[in-house]
Amino acid sequence: MNVAARIDRAQRLLGTRGLDALLLSVGPDLPYFTGYRAPQLERLTMAVIPSDGRALLVVPRLEAMKVVDVGAFDIRPWDETDDPVAIVTDRLDAPSMVAIGDHTWARFVLALQHQLPTTTFTPASLVTSEIRITKDDGEIELLASAAAAADRVAARLAHERFSGRPERQVAGLVREMCVEEGHDEAWDPIIASGPNAASPHHAAGDRVISAGDTVVVDFGGTVGGYYADTTRTFCVGEPDGEVAAAYAVLERAHQAAVDVVAPGVAAEVVDRAARAVIADAGYGDLFIHRTGHGIGLDVHEDPYIVEGNSRLLEPGMAFSIEPGIYSAGRWGMRIEDIVTVTDSGVRNLNRSSRRLAVVA
Ligand code: ZN
Ligand code: ZN
Ligand code: ZN
Repeated sequence: MNVAARIDRAQRLLGTRGLDALLLSVGPDLPYFTGYRAPQLERLTMAVIPSDGRALLVVPRLEAMKVVDVGAFDIRPWDETDDPVAIVTDRLDAPSMVAIGDHTWARFVLALQHQLPTTTFTPASLVTSEIRITKDDGEIELLASAAAAADRVAARLAHERFSGRPERQVAGLVREMCVEEGHDEAWDPIIASGPNAASPHHAAGDRVISAGDTVVVDFGGTVGGYYADTTRTFCVGEPDGEVAAAYAVLERAHQAAVDVVAPGVAAEVVDRAARAVIADAGYGDLFIHRTGHGIGLDVHEDPYIVEGNSRLLEPGMAFSIEPGIYSAGRWGMRIEDIVTVTDSGVRNLNRSSRRLAVVA
């Protein structure tokens, strides 16, 4: 990761957008541009990246030893009795327009607005997303190793007994496996069984999984800060005809969307490719969310694979393809892989079986 080059890109983009500075606090923009991830604290950490001149990282004194000095910016520790917002505003020369990190705590935004009453604030993502939306080779390799770890978990899960276990217990098992297979941290997986599977973002609960259930398992973790996000659907015992038929449609929809990915194709065209297959089979009303989302240091980021996003795909973009079919109160199913756009087409980072896995 070349932090200096990233800061340089941000500064050039600030210049062309007429912005005086970029202010980054908690959230993934800060590690992307400085290599340092700030803890969620009431003490302010903020990078000040002016459109020209040297960048500054304002950081609480007791956190400062965790910052790696790569020489690309100055480090300004502040003491408990200092006003860190004043240190930030001192570095800015009566700015007219400033971009501020989307995840910045409101109390700091309000304090900055109070100290800079004539400054207009705009979301940092207008600048940072433009840079982060295409990944370099190092980032793609981190995404690939995160996906590979998720694939190993998926393969192991196909041999697990699901019936008789509460969703919450399977969730614990999946998190453990994610770390065992190489994730630095695992996020809380979605384990949605039986009628719960019809709720795409169901939180694993007390329901005991039983014969005949479909179980949507949506899980992952991070490697070097980069996310895995994979969904596989399991069936406890052989699926009935209705579930098997719907799943065959879902597999075709997923493949159709993967196949259409290439540089120069609009993001919404990928959504349409999956949606058309599902709608043609008569399940159009049961596919109730977008086809996918970008992924990187954030689990959901640009580009969103949704109708209305005419943004053209470029090499280096990474996103999920995750069509689902949800029969309210009865069953649900989803297949989710992470793909990247290559110079000539697509690379699917997930290689584990996408078949409906029959489990005990
Ligand atoms: Zn989701
Ligand atoms: Zn997911
Ligand atoms: Zn996802």
